[in-house]
Amino acid sequence: GAARLLVVGGGFGGATAASYARREHPWLDVTLVEQRRSYITCPYSNRVLAGDLALADITFGYEGLRARGVRVVHDRAVHLDPVARRLRLGGGETLSYDRVILSPGIVLRYDALEGYDEAASARMPHAWTAADGAQITLLRRQLQAMPDGGVVGLVIPPNPYRCPPGPYERISLIASYLSKHKPRSKILALDAKEAFSKQALFQDAWQALYPGMIEWVSAANDGRVVRVDPEDMVLETEFGTRHRVSVANVIPPQSAAAIAIDAGLADSTGWVPVDPRTLESRAAAGVHVVGDAMFPGSMPKSGFLANSEAKAAVSAAAALLRGEAPPEPIFVNTCYSHIGPEYAISVANIFRVDEESRSFAEVPNSGGTSPRGDLPEQRRLEALYADGWYASIIRSMFG
Ligand code: FAD
Repeated sequence: GAARLLVVGGGFGGATAASYARREHPWLDVTLVEQRRSYITCPYSNRVLAGDLALADITFGYEGLRARGVRVVHDRAVHLDPVARRLRLGGGETLSYDRVILSPGIVLRYDALEGYDEAASARMPHAWTAADGAQITLLRRQLQAMPDGGVVGLVIPPNPYRCPPGPYERISLIASYLSKHKPRSKILALDAKEAFSKQALFQDAWQALYPGMIEWVSAANDGRVVRVDPEDMVLETEFGTRHRVSVANVIPPQSAAAIAIDAGLADSTGWVPVDPRTLESRAAAGVHVVGDAMFPGSMPKSGFLANSEAKAAVSAAAALLRGEAPPEPIFVNTCYSHIGPEYAISVANIFRVDEESRSFAEVPNSGGTSPRGDLPEQRRLEALYADGWYASIIRSMFG
C-alpha cells in the first residue's frame, strides 16, 4: 500500500505538515491525530484580550484538511512506540506508520514556580496555551471586572519559551484596552530576563502610546518572581518583594508536550533535540519533531517557524520514504507584534543548517527588526502585513 505518514498534533506545525504532505506528495497516506475538534490560535489571542477580535475569529476546524484527503482522528495520542512504529490512542485504537511527525506543542511546568499549579491558573490565568479558549476568556473577564486604578501584574519566564515577543505584545494590548476603559490603571511586568525581543521598539511605543502606564522590571532589578499566592493575589520576587495585584497573568516555564517526553525524546533541557537537516529526533529513528516541542537552538519558538519546520520535515520524510537524500532545508521566521490596533512591529530571520555544529544557524544579515523612530505610517502598514500573514498561514494550515 501507500507509505503511511502519521502526524500528531493539529496546530501550527501539525496542521501544516498534514496539509502540505497532501498538496506536495499526494502519494502519501496521511493521518492526523488531534485531541480537539477545533483549534484556537495563540497568535492574535492578545487581540481578543484587548477586545479587538472575538474568540470565534481565531477558531478553526479540520474540514479543510479532510477535504484534502487527510484522515483526521480526534483522539489523544497516549503512547508512541518508535521501535514497532506504532501509536496508541486514548480511545484504544493503535495506528501503524512508516514515518511520524510530532508537533504536540508545550506543557506548562507546574513544578517550576512555587504556588503556581493548574488550580492556581483558575485565579491567575496563564492564557499561554489557547486550548479551549477558557484561559483567554478568563483573563479578559478579569480585566473587564477590574476597577479603574487597578494593577495588572505579569510574570514572564526565562528563555526558552513559546513566542519570545508574546508577553510584550500582551502588555501592549492590555495597555491598549486599559487606556480606553480604565486609564488610571497600571501594568507591572515582572521579568526573569534582563532584556527581551524588540525591546527598544516596544519601549519607545509604550512611551508614545501609553505614557506612565507600564512598569517593566528586569531580573537585575528584582523582577524574577519565585513564588505566587493566588489567595492573596501576591507575586513574590527572588529578593522577597511582595507585589499585590488586582489581576495576575502568570506565564510559567514550559517544556515539550507529554507525548514527546513520555516517548523518551526530550533531553535534560525538557525539549527534543533533532537532526536539523531532517528534523528527525536524535533519540528515535522515523520520528520527526517540529514546532515548540523541539529544541531549536538559536531559533525562536513561533508559529511561523513551526510552519516552516513542518514543510522541511515533510520534504525530508517523503525523500527518505522514497530512498532519496533529503533536500537542504531553509527556515524562515517573521514575528509581528501588535502594540495597538493599527500599530505593529516585526522581527524577521532566516536560518540554515550549520553542518559543522549540526545545529540551526541564523544566516548573517538575513533579517532584522522594524526601524526605530516616529513612523506612524510604517506601524500602520505593519499591522496590515500582520493581518495578511495571519490569513495566509491559516490557509496553509486549514485551507
Ligand atoms: P501547537 O500550536 O500548540 O499545537 C499542538 C497541538 O497538538 C494542539 O492542537 C494540541 O491539542 C495537540 N496535542 C498535544 N498533545 C497531544 C496528544 N497527546 N494527542 C493529540 N493531540 C495532542 N507565533 C507566531 O509565529 N506569531 C505570533 O504572532 C505569535 N503570537 C503568539 C501569541 C501568544 C500569546 C502565544 C502564547 C504564542 C504566540 N505564537 C506566535 C507562538 C505560537 O502559538 C506557537 O509557536 C505555535 O502554536 C507552535 O505550534 P506547535 O504545532 O508546536 O504547537
